[in-house]
Amino acid sequence: MNMVRRHRHHHFLVVPYPVQGHINPALQFSKRLLSFGANVTFLTTLYMHRRMSSTNSSTFGLSILPFSDGHDAGFTASASSEYSLYFSELRRRGTDFVTDLILSNAQQGHPFTCVVYTLLQTWAAEVARGFHLPTALLWIQPATVFDIFYHYFHGYGGYIDGKTSDPSSYNEAIIELPGLAPSLVLAPRDMPAFLLPLSSKFTPVMFTLFEEQFRYLDMETKPAMVLLNTFEELEAKALRAVDDKLNLNMMPIGPLISSAYLDGRDLNDASFGGDVFHSSDDDHYIEWLESKAEMSVVYVSFGSVCVVPKKQMEEIARALLDCGGPFLWVIREKGKVEGREEEEEEELSCMEEVKMKGKIVKWCSQVEVLSHRSLGCFVTHCGWNSVMESLVSGVPMVAFPQGVEQRTNAKLIEDVWKTGVRVDHSVNEEGMVEADEIGRCLDIVMGNGEKGNELRKNAEKWKFLGREAVKEGGSSNKNLRNFLDDVGEECLLNEGVFFIK
Ligand code: UDP
Repeated sequence: MNMVRRHRHHHFLVVPYPVQGHINPALQFSKRLLSFGANVTFLTTLYMHRRMSSTNSSTFGLSILPFSDGHDAGFTASASSEYSLYFSELRRRGTDFVTDLILSNAQQGHPFTCVVYTLLQTWAAEVARGFHLPTALLWIQPATVFDIFYHYFHGYGGYIDGKTSDPSSYNEAIIELPGLAPSLVLAPRDMPAFLLPLSSKFTPVMFTLFEEQFRYLDMETKPAMVLLNTFEELEAKALRAVDDKLNLNMMPIGPLISSAYLDGRDLNDASFGGDVFHSSDDDHYIEWLESKAEMSVVYVSFGSVCVVPKKQMEEIARALLDCGGPFLWVIREKGKVEGREEEEEEELSCMEEVKMKGKIVKWCSQVEVLSHRSLGCFVTHCGWNSVMESLVSGVPMVAFPQGVEQRTNAKLIEDVWKTGVRVDHSVNEEGMVEADEIGRCLDIVMGNGEKGNELRKNAEKWKFLGREAVKEGGSSNKNLRNFLDDVGEECLLNEGVFFIK
């Protein structure tokens, strides 16, 4: 039977946590579902919906639905308690909205057949379960990070806490987890931030939400469906590190990146890459890149959330100037942050020189930049989307992790995939990475030495494998098709149950 026809009856409700790092992969995932003939309703907050409104979603048949999380002008917090309040309000309002939505769609004859949610949105899965609807978690971090959390909440919490409790052994203590060791041995400095003792004021809130997520998966009566933005070839071992527990069905379906950048198909679709914030056309950064030699530009970006202290920015600026080559640096505008208060900061001391030698933008289309032939290196905070985008573009990295799971990603980049060099955070007592250390990494990645050549060769390898995975017949493509079949079968079994409710 024709693949598209088989999946036409599916109607997915996709519920990502409302920040760029979740929305981007969830949008790409939704587009893949549409290409298989499924219907998709994409839920987001009013605030994010306004920012997304210029994307041409109707062309792709995607229905984007806004709801109010109570912060229609955006949310910022300066304390953990504010975050807690935000999450409980989001959960309360989201639960009411999704309950009504599921009921009204069923009454109108367009019932949902599955709810897909990202981390921190466990409430959406709980609502779906109340209606006996299948759910799938879209895990937007690497499989390795999933495994670490899984083990933490399944018997290894005390072991990990014991290893991370002494800050003086952050670089040395050895953490070996089943399915990952011996090929991947972690130190505390490689662990996700939420598992480190009070690494940020948001840790307790986040920790609780992660715990809730894993408890929810445990309560599933059938193997819980976990779709991961990674691919088989990239994390073959990690994808099997927890599957002996038989209660998880881990399905890698990535890289979740617009096909416009993966294979040049669907070019009209480039602007629908999930770019929630829009770069200004006045910046002319693509023209600027055009004027640069092949693989000569250093691109610097720390994602959509993290706030880099001014002192650290000064060190980065000095390193870029010392490096001598052209650079494109994203310095976000104040206020373009979710969940964080930004303080007024005066301009960098060397801003004039920086602007003369490099190009500063407030935002750019990162996938477009990374796929430009002039790119030589990406200095990244190691957010998972940025890492995936860099991998599939074949751009080697200077890994400059900040928080969340970025340290683990940096470890994988440097030691497993060998496509980048990680800055050493331990050199400076204040925790700043000094210009010389950044310069050391830039020299390696941009240089023509043995190490630089090896990084570029590996980057090419992952670019090829990542693109193969999502092609027709590729590993991720097959997994997505199997997922649709599984959901279809579950719907047939459940038919009737839903309507009795
Ligand atoms: N991004 C972008 N333009 C920028 C900076 C970031 O399009 O100037 C996009 C980037 O392509 C990625 C997302 O924002 O898809 C950031 O997600 P990531 O997981 O890397 O980091 P986060 O923002 O969640 O920390």
